[in-house]
Parts: sequence; C-alpha cells; structure tokens
Amino acid sequence: MQADNTAIRAGVIGLGAMGAPMAKHLANAGLLVSVWNRTGGKADELASEAGVEVAAGPEHLATRCNVVLTCVSADDDLQQVVSCMLPGIEPGSVVVDTSTVSPVTARQLAGSLSGADAGFVDAPVSGGVEGARKGTLSVMAGGSSANIARIMPVLEAISASVTHMGPVGAGQATKAVNQVMIAGIAEAVCEALAMAEQLNLPSERLLPVVGAGAAGSWFLEHRGRSMLESKFNVGFKLSLLLKDLLICQNLAQELDISIPTVEAAISDYRQLVELGDGDHDISGLIRLKRDVDGSTGE
Ligand code: NAP
Repeated sequence: MQADNTAIRAGVIGLGAMGAPMAKHLANAGLLVSVWNRTGGKADELASEAGVEVAAGPEHLATRCNVVLTCVSADDDLQQVVSCMLPGIEPGSVVVDTSTVSPVTARQLAGSLSGADAGFVDAPVSGGVEGARKGTLSVMAGGSSANIARIMPVLEAISASVTHMGPVGAGQATKAVNQVMIAGIAEAVCEALAMAEQLNLPSERLLPVVGAGAAGSWFLEHRGRSMLESKFNVGFKLSLLLKDLLICQNLAQELDISIPTVEAAISDYRQLVELGDGDHDISGLIRLKRDVDGSTGE
C-alpha cells in the first residue's frame, strides 16, 4: 500500500523511549512539523534537533497537523490526550496510536474522532526501543483500508513491516497476543538464566550456544547479556508490561479462556513493582527468579 506523502503534516505526542525515536524518523522522512510532550524539556530537545516546532499542547498540535501519531503510556493517558486534542482536530485528519492500550479504548477513541470527522488507526508496535531507534518496528494496524493507506508513509518511516489486521481494535488485539508471548518468553528465559547461574555455567559460551539453536529469541539475544550483568536500565519498563498483561487478562476473561502463564507473570511483575522496580526493563524479572523467597536481594 503506497500513498502520496506530499500532503502529510505529521505531529507526535509522547516523546518517551519509543515516541522520541519514531519522531526522529518522521523528521528524517520530511513528514514531521510539530511535537508535544507532557514534560516539556523532551519536546524542546527533540524539536531543536529535528528543526520542528513545539506545540503549546495537544489541541494546538492538532490544529497544525493532519496526521497525529500518539505514543503514551496507558489507556487513561491516551484518552486524556485525545480529548485535549479534539477541539483542534481538522476534519479529514487521522490519529494513529502506537501506544499499547485495550481494543475497547481504541474503538471508543475511533468513535469520538469520527464525531469530529477524523479517522483513527490503532497501530501498536513490537521490536523494542532498538526497533524504534532503527526504524524497524513491526506494526499491527487496525482501521479502515483508506485511513491506513493515508498514513502509510508515516508507518513506513518507523517500521520494517506494516500488517493490516482488521477493523479498529484488531491491532491492539494482535498486540495482546504478542504480549502473551513476550511474557511467556521472559518467564522462561529469566528462569533458565537464573538456573544457569546456579550451575556456574560460563555465560560467554552459554548465550551463543543456546541462542543459535531452537531456544533462540529476540529477548535472549538483546537482554541475555545485560540481565546476567544485572543491568536493567534499558528497554521496556516492566510496569508497562504489567499494564499490557492486565489487558490480556481482561480479554481472556471475556473469551472465558485460561492463560496461566500470564497470571504467573502478573503476579511476578506486581511483586517487582511493589519492590520499587517498575521502571526496570522486563529482564529485571531475573532478580525474582534468582531468589526463591521472592526477595530481590537489594
Ligand atoms: P515511556 O518512555 O515511559 O514514555 C511514555 C510517554 O508517555 C512519555 O512521553 C510520557 O510523558 C507520556 N505520557 C504518559 N502519560 C501521559 C499523560 N497522561 N499525558 C500526556 N503524556 C503522557 O514509555 P515507552 O517505552 O515510550 O512506551 C510508550 C508506549 O509504547 C506504551 O504504551 C508501551 O506499552 C508501548 N511500547 C513500548 C515498548 C518498549 O520497548 N519500550 C515497545 C512496544 C510498545 P512524560 O515524558 O511527561 O512522562
């Protein structure tokens, strides 16, 4: 799907670990005109680097742009941002949300925006901060074919692949499936590497040998070394994965199915958040796995 990008005036709201590199790719593609972030310093820094304006707020940004990409933490945050944006939104604009929220929220926002003659695409992403920096994210999109075609230059600037999964909400449903896998892989890899430490296996040989075979995974490749060195300051905050897993839990309840791996992961990440580790990368889970008493030893 290709679209004419000459008419796109893109804005980005939410310049965190994911949103900031996405905004830089939009600037490099010549699509970005405006940015806004709740904590203003991040917007000032990015705007001066990219040579774009800092909007006074979401409403002002909406008046300046016809495609608005959002990347904020959770459902409530996205709802706040979109409701602030609504009075300024131009008819015919499309809001493309790359945050991970529930399919219900995506459908509600699409309804609110259609009242302002604007479109909505839920476009959650996978590939981590590394994928955001390299512009190689995998995008799972939900919305009309026309709206997705309209924003395709924006999605192509941040990703290696864009897959249209169905109507609004289908992108977030796909992301929930993705997060069930992420949680299960993290549980297994953290347990396995904590066990390897107990077995005194040499990590410089362990990681390549298991990574080259059927146990290889993105998580092992990108977080195996850092977690064995107890470095948890990069990547995907575990409080955000906990938020995602609560979305998966709700979906499973609606479907009347059981997802025991997710239930175990929710319990683990709740414990880590209570211990004050919510801003650690999800690989911080190894700290629980190292200690059967649940104490992370600090
Ligand atoms: P982050 O670094 O914590 O950034 C969160 C961003 O949201 C910040 O710009 C923050 O503004 C903004 N924000 C939060 N609440 C807000 C509110 N009420 N109003 C306005 N802005 C608000 O998180 P991230 O890692 O970029 O993740 C962003 C989204 O992408 C999340 O939904 C996450 O689940 C998803 N995601 C993350 C990854 C990953 O590997 N990190 C991968 C895929 C998807 P401030 O700067 O003012 O705090």
